[in-house]
Amino acid sequence: MDFRTTTIRELHEQLVSGTVTPESLLTESRLVIHQRDASIHAFIEVFNDQQETVDVTAGVLAGIPMAVKDNILYKGHIASAASKILENYQASYDATVVELLQQQHAVIVGRLNMDDSAMGTSTESSYYGITRNPLDETRVPGGSSGGPAAAVAAGMVSYALGSDTGGSIRQPAACCGVVGLKPTYGSVSRNGLIAMSSSLDVIGPITNSVEDAETIFNVIGTYDPRDNTSVSYDVRKQYQTKNTNTKVIGIPRSFLEVDGLDPEVLENFNSSIRKMEVAGYTIVDIDLPNLKHSLAVYYILQPAEVSSNLARYDGVRYGLSLKGEDLIDSYKKTKTAGFGREVQRRIMLGTYVLSSGYHDEYYYKARQLRAKITEEIREVFETVDIIATPTAPNVAFPFGAKKDPISLYLEDVFTVPYNLTGNPAISIPSGTNSEGMPFGMHFTAPMFCEDKLFEVGKDFERAILE
Ligand code: GLN
Repeated sequence: MDFRTTTIRELHEQLVSGTVTPESLLTESRLVIHQRDASIHAFIEVFNDQQETVDVTAGVLAGIPMAVKDNILYKGHIASAASKILENYQASYDATVVELLQQQHAVIVGRLNMDDSAMGTSTESSYYGITRNPLDETRVPGGSSGGPAAAVAAGMVSYALGSDTGGSIRQPAACCGVVGLKPTYGSVSRNGLIAMSSSLDVIGPITNSVEDAETIFNVIGTYDPRDNTSVSYDVRKQYQTKNTNTKVIGIPRSFLEVDGLDPEVLENFNSSIRKMEVAGYTIVDIDLPNLKHSLAVYYILQPAEVSSNLARYDGVRYGLSLKGEDLIDSYKKTKTAGFGREVQRRIMLGTYVLSSGYHDEYYYKARQLRAKITEEIREVFETVDIIATPTAPNVAFPFGAKKDPISLYLEDVFTVPYNLTGNPAISIPSGTNSEGMPFGMHFTAPMFCEDKLFEVGKDFERAILE
């Protein structure tokens, strides 16, 4: 049995027919973790409190080992967002997604490493140390969901849940050669996700196949009154009926001319798209003139929301608490010791763009541009069904290769736009370079049209094999 090559549906069938048991799957998961995680370090903690008895008919996920990113609350377990400030924070309730998994008797084997507070693209900033790429341990696994991507790519679990605010599911999935889905904003509950940038954060699966991503999405993509940005089924349907069901893929050509795009990535993208043409798709060039501003907009809005969300870690109510001479001094000591460098940088940037005098110049302008980009994407979906780009401008890079923050930010250039607009997007493995490092193909669909992503994604998996 190999989690890498067995789909969730196949595992479910084997469990129901009795050819495998939940115990044997858990043993397999623990064995691979034991063999590989000492060097990869995908897990911050492996749990030993799984249910003794699993009803394999409870749902398609019953008895199948999985793990969650360390920013998703699982009652009674620590959820630290890989940050010192929450090192000892124990979740007092289950995230809605965890509740949904448990209703299905899914087996949660542990919590997975990530960049400190989900800010980063390489999992080099975790308070608990780096995660290595299972395909080449001298390279990063991507981030911030580096632990989830590495755990799935190494076959430690069948699938994992991550979070994506600017690319943190899709970019690590691409780096590790697995599938990563960022669902439509509002389709998966954020209740119980440690908030980073509330208007951008989404929970989604990292899996071995598009089919598995669909299986997980069908379980976690439910309406939740406990998240006030969760979208009702009626509203979702209104979007879905606009779906045209044709086969037109749009390529934002001028957007692909970004600085720092590895020529091999572009070459792989072009040849992969040709395979879709052979498979019966129509390929057209599209013009999205404001898309190039997405990264700049993101790095104003995201820090602004970070500075507001992370203000709650003041050493009084949660987590690390260091005593200073007075209250202000206690705040300073706690935050200086508790937050990593990148987190501190974002809080300062965010505080600056929200400050009086700069608010209109930066924050308000960025919000206006976000609305423009969203409108541009909405309009383009009147003529095409899917937008395709590479997932990231580079394959997984060696540790320490990108030291200045801006070069790390650039890794999200193709993923960030759809966090701003809310559209669902998926990264699918698209072959490897001469050094065996995987490329990712990135597809985006109209709002709430995950179905379209799965349909085109499965066609892509077939086309790539031929
Ligand atoms: N890499 C981006 C950042 O550092 C996105 C992170 C994410 O999606 N959680 O903000």
